[in-house]
Amino acid sequence: MSVSPPSDRYAVFGNPIAHSKSPRIHAAFAEQTGQRLTYEALFAPLDGFAAAIAGFRGEGGRGANVTVPFKEQAYALSARLSARAEAAGAVNTLAFDADGIYGDNTDGVGLVNDLAGNLGLRLADKRILLMGAGGAARGVVLPLLEQGPAELFIVNRTAAKAEDLVAQASLLASRLDSGAATPARLSAGGYEALAGRHFDLVVNATAASLAGDLPPLPAGLFAEGALAYDMMYGRDTPFLARARGEGARGADGLGMLVEQAAEAFFLWRGVRPATAPVIALLRAG
Ligand code: NDP
Repeated sequence: MSVSPPSDRYAVFGNPIAHSKSPRIHAAFAEQTGQRLTYEALFAPLDGFAAAIAGFRGEGGRGANVTVPFKEQAYALSARLSARAEAAGAVNTLAFDADGIYGDNTDGVGLVNDLAGNLGLRLADKRILLMGAGGAARGVVLPLLEQGPAELFIVNRTAAKAEDLVAQASLLASRLDSGAATPARLSAGGYEALAGRHFDLVVNATAASLAGDLPPLPAGLFAEGALAYDMMYGRDTPFLARARGEGARGADGLGMLVEQAAEAFFLWRGVRPATAPVIALLRAG
């Protein structure tokens, strides 16, 4: 009688974590691609992230996703980093191997793949507004710039944080020699700087939607045919309602969630799952 080898273990760590859709997404990817693995949602105490990861590695865990509020700690814990994780200053995917902990950030490519692949939006030459300057915004700046938009304006309640993000991204882009973050194309400010301006794509990467709030957007912000993208998912948001009211097309962040998971799955398993059926599965409830 042959005994099949044990499944490889993966998990997502967060606090809170019970709501996570990642176990369902990775189970669907594994079934679709015939990969033998388990993936669970694990709670880590606020002061116990590093210990939780060490424990999971010690038990044979092969890799992990990391969500709020541990992405910066995961960055600090990584012995080696991908260029995109370095640019983001945050890590959402860890891979464990003989060389130690490797940290990657798949949020940015997740957003770009959802916009370009699932939503059919060509980002080249578009005027993009990115709202927010926290972890999620940081992860998507360089991947968005790499698509060659006409401009990327970062707006934040605390304007200085958006300006810091621009300075950091410009520096990194010049170091990576991508030439993507020329000052003419990348700039930042507070919400008052948006008066009279129009954008083809507005990405809400603030945590405002979580609290049912809407940042102070001026009327007429959405250009004709604009797409409004809220990184939050699971319910309608004041941001998407406002965008619809102004005639813009709206999209939530569920596609980004599945796309960032697919990129993590590819890093771990070397196999790229199809995302459309998994997005459809989650939308069906
Ligand atoms: P952070 O806490 O790091 O950043 C929060 C940002 O939101 C800051 O820029 C903050 O501004 C701003 N903000 C918070 N409240 C308000 C408000 N009432 N009005 C205006 N701005 C506000 O959070 P993250 O960046 O980690 O996450 C942001 C969102 O993105 C969350 O909803 C999260 O669920 C979502 N997300 C979705 C993903 C997906 O795959 N779909 C992946 C990652 C995140 P200030 O600096 O002034 O405090």
